[in-house]
Amino acid sequence: MSYLNIIEWEIIPDTTPQVKRNCPKCGDKKHYINSEKFRVNANGSLIDIWLIYQCEKCSSTWNMTIHERIKPNAISKIQYEKFQSNDRDLALHYGLDINIHKKNKVEAIWESVRYNIITREMSQTNEREDEQQYIIRCKYPLQLRADKLLSEKLQVSRSKIRTLYENGAIYTQENKNILKLKAYDGMQIYINNNYIVLNE
Ligand SMILES: [Zn+2]
Repeated sequence: MSYLNIIEWEIIPDTTPQVKRNCPKCGDKKHYINSEKFRVNANGSLIDIWLIYQCEKCSSTWNMTIHERIKPNAISKIQYEKFQSNDRDLALHYGLDINIHKKNKVEAIWESVRYNIITREMSQTNEREDEQQYIIRCKYPLQLRADKLLSEKLQVSRSKIRTLYENGAIYTQENKNILKLKAYDGMQIYINNNYIVLNE
């Protein structure tokens, strides 16, 4: 008997990480939230582009540098217009960019990211019929713990995920400790069916 036992989970971020930095008005380190708005400044023949963040407490703004003193031909006209019209996908894209965080010397709070997960049944079969295979799709490295993801999607506790891993009922394609892994694009997780039945 063959049946569909491969499921794809696509993790789609709905927000970007808040960033931690000193707020001059609050006089303390605060979390700043992505406003999803850009500031574009064309100064003579050079362009600056920032993504505007706001302090969660006092709403003071801080500009995160995206491009600094670049020539107009360094970015396409389409891209430039997207910055000017506060394109949401672009604001999410840069807000999720680890290199941009580094360049701006801010600490990203990845736990603050909200995301949706789209579940798709794949029209393929896993070779082994006694187990369920899950494939993770995520365009951005969201630093989401694999055991947290499993606990949410399977609606079981993290300690139960730990027990399953320790009993060999759950494993990944590279056989690393799933309790220490972050979900990544292309990750494959296998769970023994006997377990799934027991928990329904
Ligand atoms: Zn503040």
